[in-house]
Amino acid sequence: MGGQRTALVTGGGSGIGRAIALRLAADGFATAVLDLDAAAAERVAAEAGDKGYRAAAFGGADVSDRAQVDVVVQRVRDTFGPVAVLVNNAGLSGFKKFMNITDDLWDRILAVNLSGPFYCAQAVVPGMEEAGWGRIVNISSSSAQSGQQLMTHYVASKAGLIGWTKALALELGPKGITVNTIPPGFIDTPMLRDSADGGMLGASVDDIAALTPVRRAGTPEDIAAACAFLASEEAGYVTGQVIGVNGGRNT
Ligand code: NAP
Repeated sequence: MGGQRTALVTGGGSGIGRAIALRLAADGFATAVLDLDAAAAERVAAEAGDKGYRAAAFGGADVSDRAQVDVVVQRVRDTFGPVAVLVNNAGLSGFKKFMNITDDLWDRILAVNLSGPFYCAQAVVPGMEEAGWGRIVNISSSSAQSGQQLMTHYVASKAGLIGWTKALALELGPKGITVNTIPPGFIDTPMLRDSADGGMLGASVDDIAALTPVRRAGTPEDIAAACAFLASEEAGYVTGQVIGVNGGRNT
């Protein structure tokens, strides 16, 4: 296929999404940085632009709102052309005792972490089918492999994302579209620091790193590297897979 392919990274303004957006832009994708936080999306797009890459910010869009997703995906298409790579990274975390989880909180976590990827994929899959080529990478969580206390709502949403990945891969494989999931584990981002600062991890980041097989916390760039492979031409025979990037904490 000639021309530059378009990548759309949700939650691209911070942490793992920022690293993925910068990496895909460096790899030659015209990169759309979508984030609820418009200023953060602008910063990341400018960072990519400063390095000579092609990127643009699509800020203020909430992936849990189908109408907003449809509008923003159309804007991305108008700017860069149809989306060839979708990275569903935007996510909402949180710690709450099971019996204290309200209906509203449950619904919000499911809406962002599971319905968001559903809306985004439905918005881009027709274009991928037309092109006969596409890559969908879902950023789930190692907590869906191991369980995580005080996170039943979050873990349920991420486990749903893993199952959804496997089922969607079967359906889209014949169309030239791969669907995979990366469940990150213990990646040093604002989300992880918030959890550690709130005493939710049961130990400091350094103490947990000392118990991790590779003896360090992960970096957003570790996730971006795996994502870049899954988005590449040569990953065409990899689909429906759960690619753990967690320093050996979960296998
Ligand atoms: P982060 O630093 O909090 O970044 C998440 C970004 O997503 C933020 O910029 C956030 O914007 C945006 N976002 C949140 N809700 C959104 C929505 N409804 N629509 C659009 N954008 C939205 O988090 P991170 O640690 O990089 O996490 C990225 C992904 O990795 C998440 O799906 C997370 O569950 C997953 N993950 C992370 C770890 C880890 O160790 N860090 C482990 C397992 C899984 P606002 O700031 O405006 O909310």
